[in-house]
Amino acid sequence: MAKAIPQLIDGEWRESRTREFIEVTDPATQEVLALAPKATAEEIEAAIASAKAAFLTWREVPVSERARLMLRYQHLLKEHHDELAEILAGETGKTLADAKGDVWRGIEVVEQACNIASLMMGETMENVARDIDTASWIQPLGVCVGITPFNFPAMIPLWMFPLAIAAGNTFILKPSEQDPLTPNRLAELFIQAGAPKGVLQVLHGGREVVDSLLTHPDIRAISFVGSVPVGQHIYRTGTAHLKRVQAFAGAKNHMVIMPDANKDQVLSNLVGASCGAAGQRCMAISVAVFVGESKQWIEELRAQMAELQPGPWQDPHSAFGPLISQQAKQRVLRLIAEGKAEGAECLLDGSHCTVAGYPNGNWLGATLFRGVTPKMSLYRDEIFGPVLVCMEVDSLDAAIELVNASPYGNGTSIFTRSGGAARHYQHAVEVGQVGVNVPVPVPLPFFSFTGWKGSFYGDLHAYGKQGVRFFTETKTVTSRWFDEDSVAGTNMTIHLK
Ligand code: NAD
Repeated sequence: MAKAIPQLIDGEWRESRTREFIEVTDPATQEVLALAPKATAEEIEAAIASAKAAFLTWREVPVSERARLMLRYQHLLKEHHDELAEILAGETGKTLADAKGDVWRGIEVVEQACNIASLMMGETMENVARDIDTASWIQPLGVCVGITPFNFPAMIPLWMFPLAIAAGNTFILKPSEQDPLTPNRLAELFIQAGAPKGVLQVLHGGREVVDSLLTHPDIRAISFVGSVPVGQHIYRTGTAHLKRVQAFAGAKNHMVIMPDANKDQVLSNLVGASCGAAGQRCMAISVAVFVGESKQWIEELRAQMAELQPGPWQDPHSAFGPLISQQAKQRVLRLIAEGKAEGAECLLDGSHCTVAGYPNGNWLGATLFRGVTPKMSLYRDEIFGPVLVCMEVDSLDAAIELVNASPYGNGTSIFTRSGGAARHYQHAVEVGQVGVNVPVPVPLPFFSFTGWKGSFYGDLHAYGKQGVRFFTETKTVTSRWFDEDSVAGTNMTIHLK
């Protein structure tokens, strides 16, 4: 019988008193690995009260000490990198290489948090008026919340709590109920690094837990990453309750392929960017836009995709793993069937994929369509599986028009040898993250993760300078000191004139 995992409340790992649990399964076998509790109302209140109390002391801890906590944490994460990757692979099904990448991209944000002193410097100016000076101070907000998706259970929690806590806030993490083992281990290591009691809390559960956090008067800011409908709900409800909210949502990312591009580079990058991690990445390429004669490469693309064999994470030859759940697989199968019914041409169909020795896995093979139009659900909906849709256009401007008409704006890339075409594309395209001959342009943490349009609701983005601004407030102090007061009661003599 699988064991229930604990929650981190008030500095202790506590068993939940709930009677409701969610099964955490191995997506390659359906084996139940653990049970995630649905936090009770009392547990949610206890976590918030503890985070609120801890804020009063944590905010006074000098910034260099807060940075040192992050240095120790970074060191521990690196020491436990492979162990974390194996936990992560076990509950997500990701290949070990992908799982290691997930952990590593999170560690890079912790490294950024070590630099918090420079990131929190304000601005000063003397003599803004006669004898008057102004200084802006950057201060933490209070209790912040992070709600994270299943597809990056290390990286995305690490986008959030290290930076928020380094900035002087306290934090409540509500990870995805589908893979909560990695986040729990991340939190254990954070405590081991010396995080004081109450600075980080971890609650488990689904919608009800999120809704209690969204509306609670003691929560100041909410950082969310997940699907579009949930992101819209989080943004609307959180802001209606006067909270600061950033909600990173779903995507449909286009790669534009110019006929002058390097064909070999295009095809290998396209295969990896569409099917890597079974297409369960918010920056996966799900639409390939072939401009002019580059459409001749579609047959070769099909041949390369047909080579991909999914499999379990323990097998180093697995090209990618299973989908996270049976529901996720059913959803993708439905979209593939709808695409066929709507008249798209299915060049490669992974619907009936099997993996020897793993009859119960949520397998789906690489799937390729062409002849897709913008009205088809294959194009409109985020598929979140190893499914690539090919569109064909006559010119770069037609490609830009297509991409800009999409409601999403997370990432895009262009492959070309022409600097002029690349510059025109990067300037004109209405997408927040653009790659030039780079298929998945996820910014490193000294920049910010800047999705646009329907892929992001809010103003300030994740990590980098914007991440720090999201978790802080600016206080502007204007001061004047009177000469007679500054000498009164002292034997100091000052000569002003
Ligand atoms: P999801 O929206 O189903 O769940 C995300 C989180 O919200 C989970 O913690 C979940 O418990 C909670 N949640 C689910 N339903 C809820 C509800 N009705 N009310 C309140 N909370 C709810 O997303 P997912 O399936 O875990 O993750 C995949 C999605 O995340 C994809 O759409 C992907 O594009 C997106 N994503 C976006 C980014 C980005 O940076 N834009 C990054 C990673 C993932």
